[in-house]
Amino acid sequence: MAEYSLSKRKKLATKRAMTFLESIYLPAIVGGMWITIKHLFKRPTTIQYPEQKREMAPVYRGQHVLKRDEAGAERCTACGLCALACPAEAITMVAAERKKEEKALYREEKYAATYEINMLRCIFCGLCEEACPKEAIFLTDRIVDAEYARKDFIYGKDILVEPINERVDIGVRQTKDVKEFKTHADQKHNILGK
Ligand code: SF4
Ligand code: SF4
Repeated sequence: MAEYSLSKRKKLATKRAMTFLESIYLPAIVGGMWITIKHLFKRPTTIQYPEQKREMAPVYRGQHVLKRDEAGAERCTACGLCALACPAEAITMVAAERKKEEKALYREEKYAATYEINMLRCIFCGLCEEACPKEAIFLTDRIVDAEYARKDFIYGKDILVEPINERVDIGVRQTKDVKEFKTHADQKHNILGK
Protein backbone atom coordinates (compact mmCIF):
# COMPACT_ATOMS: atom_id res chain seq x y z
CA MET A 1 0.00 0.00 0.00
CA ALA A 2 1.33 3.46 -0.94
CA GLU A 3 2.42 5.80 1.92
CA TYR A 4 0.72 9.22 1.71
CA SER A 5 1.72 12.31 3.69
CA LEU A 6 -0.29 15.51 3.35
CA SER A 7 2.35 17.60 5.14
CA LYS A 8 5.24 15.92 3.33
CA ARG A 9 7.14 15.99 6.60
CA LYS A 10 6.53 12.41 7.49
CA LYS A 11 9.71 10.43 7.95
CA LEU A 12 9.75 6.73 7.66
CA ALA A 13 11.85 5.25 10.46
CA THR A 14 14.00 2.38 9.33
CA LYS A 15 16.38 0.27 11.25
CA ARG A 16 19.78 0.64 9.64
CA ALA A 17 23.33 0.28 10.80
CA MET A 18 25.04 3.50 12.03
CA THR A 19 27.78 5.03 9.91
CA PHE A 20 31.28 5.33 11.40
CA LEU A 21 30.76 9.05 12.28
CA GLU A 22 27.42 8.31 13.92
CA SER A 23 28.90 5.48 15.92
CA ILE A 24 31.58 7.70 17.54
CA TYR A 25 28.89 10.31 18.49
CA LEU A 26 31.39 13.16 18.00
CA PRO A 27 29.43 15.20 15.40
CA ALA A 28 26.29 14.94 17.53
CA ILE A 29 28.19 16.09 20.66
CA VAL A 30 29.79 19.01 18.80
CA GLY A 31 26.36 19.95 17.38
CA GLY A 32 24.85 19.94 20.87
CA MET A 33 27.71 22.00 22.31
CA TRP A 34 27.34 24.52 19.49
CA ILE A 35 23.69 25.06 20.43
CA THR A 36 24.70 25.57 24.09
CA ILE A 37 27.51 28.02 23.20
CA LYS A 38 25.16 30.05 20.96
CA HIS A 39 22.85 30.58 23.93
CA LEU A 40 25.71 32.06 26.00
CA PHE A 41 25.75 35.09 23.72
CA LYS A 42 22.01 35.56 23.48
CA ARG A 43 20.05 37.99 25.60
CA PRO A 44 18.64 35.96 28.55
CA THR A 45 14.89 35.60 28.64
CA THR A 46 14.86 35.18 32.42
CA ILE A 47 15.16 38.03 34.94
CA GLN A 48 16.52 38.21 38.49
CA TYR A 49 13.17 38.42 40.31
CA PRO A 50 12.45 39.95 42.84
CA GLU A 51 15.35 42.41 42.39
CA GLN A 52 14.22 42.92 38.79
CA LYS A 53 10.56 43.18 37.86
CA ARG A 54 8.92 42.95 34.49
CA GLU A 55 6.62 45.66 33.28
CA MET A 56 3.07 44.36 33.57
CA ALA A 57 0.22 44.97 31.16
CA PRO A 58 -1.90 47.93 32.31
CA VAL A 59 -4.87 45.61 32.91
CA TYR A 60 -2.87 42.89 34.71
CA ARG A 61 -5.01 41.18 37.38
CA GLY A 62 -3.18 40.31 40.59
CA GLN A 63 -3.83 40.03 44.31
CA HIS A 64 -7.29 41.11 45.45
CA VAL A 65 -8.13 43.92 47.84
CA LEU A 66 -11.27 44.40 49.91
CA LYS A 67 -11.91 48.11 49.82
CA ARG A 68 -13.05 50.49 52.52
CA ASP A 69 -15.29 53.46 51.78
CA GLU A 70 -14.29 57.12 52.05
CA ALA A 71 -14.93 57.06 55.83
CA GLY A 72 -12.89 53.90 56.32
CA ALA A 73 -15.75 51.40 56.78
CA GLU A 74 -15.52 48.02 55.04
CA ARG A 75 -17.63 48.05 51.88
CA CYS A 76 -18.31 44.30 51.70
CA THR A 77 -21.81 43.30 52.79
CA ALA A 78 -21.24 39.54 52.55
CA CYS A 79 -23.88 39.13 49.86
CA GLY A 80 -21.96 36.19 48.40
CA LEU A 81 -22.26 37.27 44.76
CA CYS A 82 -18.52 37.15 44.25
CA ALA A 83 -18.39 33.59 45.57
CA LEU A 84 -21.27 32.61 43.28
CA ALA A 85 -19.57 34.17 40.27
CA CYS A 86 -16.21 32.57 41.00
CA PRO A 87 -15.63 29.71 38.53
CA ALA A 88 -12.84 28.29 40.69
CA GLU A 89 -14.85 28.29 43.92
CA ALA A 90 -11.99 30.10 45.55
CA ILE A 91 -14.03 32.43 47.76
CA THR A 92 -15.70 31.56 51.07
CA MET A 93 -17.22 33.84 53.67
CA VAL A 94 -19.24 33.93 56.86
CA ALA A 95 -21.73 36.77 57.25
CA ALA A 96 -22.52 38.53 60.51
CA GLU A 97 -24.87 41.28 61.65
CA ARG A 98 -23.40 44.66 62.49
CA LYS A 99 -23.85 45.86 66.07
CA LYS A 100 -24.83 49.45 66.85
CA GLU A 101 -21.36 50.36 68.02
CA GLU A 102 -19.80 48.90 64.86
CA LYS A 103 -21.32 51.44 62.47
CA ALA A 104 -17.97 53.00 61.72
CA LEU A 105 -16.40 49.64 60.94
CA TYR A 106 -18.85 48.23 58.40
CA ARG A 107 -20.78 50.15 55.76
CA GLU A 108 -23.86 47.90 55.71
CA GLU A 109 -25.86 46.11 58.40
CA LYS A 110 -24.51 42.79 57.22
CA TYR A 111 -20.78 42.30 56.87
CA ALA A 112 -18.24 39.55 56.30
CA ALA A 113 -16.99 38.27 59.64
CA THR A 114 -14.76 35.91 57.69
CA TYR A 115 -13.76 36.32 54.07
CA GLU A 116 -11.22 34.04 52.47
CA ILE A 117 -9.76 33.58 49.00
CA ASN A 118 -7.73 30.52 48.15
CA MET A 119 -5.01 31.93 45.92
CA LEU A 120 -4.07 28.47 44.68
CA ARG A 121 -7.55 28.02 43.27
CA CYS A 122 -7.92 31.53 41.91
CA ILE A 123 -7.41 31.94 38.18
CA PHE A 124 -7.46 35.76 38.38
CA CYS A 125 -10.35 36.01 35.95
CA GLY A 126 -11.79 39.10 37.66
CA LEU A 127 -15.38 37.80 37.75
CA CYS A 128 -15.64 38.47 41.51
CA GLU A 129 -14.84 42.11 40.80
CA GLU A 130 -17.47 42.24 38.06
CA ALA A 131 -20.12 40.62 40.27
CA CYS A 132 -19.69 42.84 43.32
CA PRO A 133 -22.54 45.37 43.64
CA LYS A 134 -20.75 47.30 46.38
CA GLU A 135 -17.43 48.01 44.71
CA ALA A 136 -15.87 46.08 47.56
CA ILE A 137 -13.53 43.67 45.84
CA PHE A 138 -10.94 44.49 43.21
CA LEU A 139 -7.98 42.79 41.69
CA THR A 140 -4.85 44.88 41.86
CA ASP A 141 -1.50 45.04 40.12
CA ARG A 142 0.19 43.31 43.07
CA ILE A 143 1.75 39.86 42.69
CA VAL A 144 0.72 37.08 45.07
CA ASP A 145 3.76 36.13 47.16
CA ALA A 146 5.39 32.73 46.90
CA GLU A 147 4.86 30.52 49.96
CA TYR A 148 6.11 27.15 51.16
CA ALA A 149 2.86 25.80 52.61
CA ARG A 150 -0.54 25.48 50.93
CA LYS A 151 -2.36 26.89 53.95
CA ASP A 152 -0.49 30.19 53.54
CA PHE A 153 -2.20 30.77 50.20
CA ILE A 154 -5.58 31.09 51.87
CA TYR A 155 -5.85 34.83 52.30
CA GLY A 156 -8.16 36.11 55.01
CA LYS A 157 -9.37 39.58 55.86
CA ASP A 158 -6.08 40.38 57.59
CA ILE A 159 -4.43 40.37 54.14
CA LEU A 160 -7.34 41.27 51.88
CA VAL A 161 -8.87 44.32 53.59
CA GLU A 162 -6.88 47.42 52.79
CA PRO A 163 -5.20 49.11 55.78
CA ILE A 164 -7.10 52.22 56.78
CA ASN A 165 -4.07 54.48 56.49
CA GLU A 166 -2.55 52.77 53.51
CA ARG A 167 -5.21 52.61 50.81
CA VAL A 168 -4.60 50.42 47.79
CA ASP A 169 -4.88 52.33 44.53
CA ILE A 170 -7.14 50.30 42.26
CA GLY A 171 -7.24 53.01 39.61
CA VAL A 172 -3.95 51.94 38.03
CA ARG A 173 -5.49 49.02 36.18
CA GLN A 174 -8.82 50.58 35.30
CA THR A 175 -9.37 51.67 31.73
CA LYS A 176 -10.56 55.15 30.77
CA ASP A 177 -14.02 53.76 29.93
CA VAL A 178 -14.46 52.18 33.36
CA LYS A 179 -13.37 55.34 35.13
CA GLU A 180 -15.83 57.34 33.07
CA PHE A 181 -18.62 54.85 33.82
CA LYS A 182 -18.06 55.25 37.56
CA THR A 183 -18.71 58.97 37.35
CA HIS A 184 -22.35 58.49 36.29
CA ALA A 185 -24.89 59.86 38.77
CA ASP A 186 -26.72 56.52 39.09
CA GLN A 187 -23.44 54.88 40.13
CA LYS A 188 -23.13 57.10 43.20
CA HIS A 189 -22.94 54.23 45.65
CA ASN A 190 -19.91 53.08 43.71
CA ILE A 191 -17.68 56.07 44.28
CA LEU A 192 -14.35 54.35 44.62
CA GLY A 193 -12.24 56.71 46.66
CA LYS A 194 -8.60 55.81 46.60
S1 SF4 B 1 -10.46 36.32 40.23
FE1 SF4 B 1 -11.84 34.75 39.39
S2 SF4 B 1 -11.06 32.84 40.21
FE2 SF4 B 1 -10.12 34.46 41.42
S3 SF4 B 1 -11.45 34.68 43.19
FE3 SF4 B 1 -12.16 36.15 41.65
S4 SF4 B 1 -13.77 35.07 40.51
FE4 SF4 B 1 -12.59 33.54 41.64
S1 SF4 C 1 -17.06 41.39 47.97
FE1 SF4 C 1 -18.87 42.29 47.01
S2 SF4 C 1 -19.89 40.57 46.00
FE2 SF4 C 1 -18.45 39.71 47.47
S3 SF4 C 1 -19.65 39.39 49.29
FE3 SF4 C 1 -18.68 41.39 49.49
S4 SF4 C 1 -20.21 42.81 48.70
FE4 SF4 C 1 -20.83 40.79 48.00
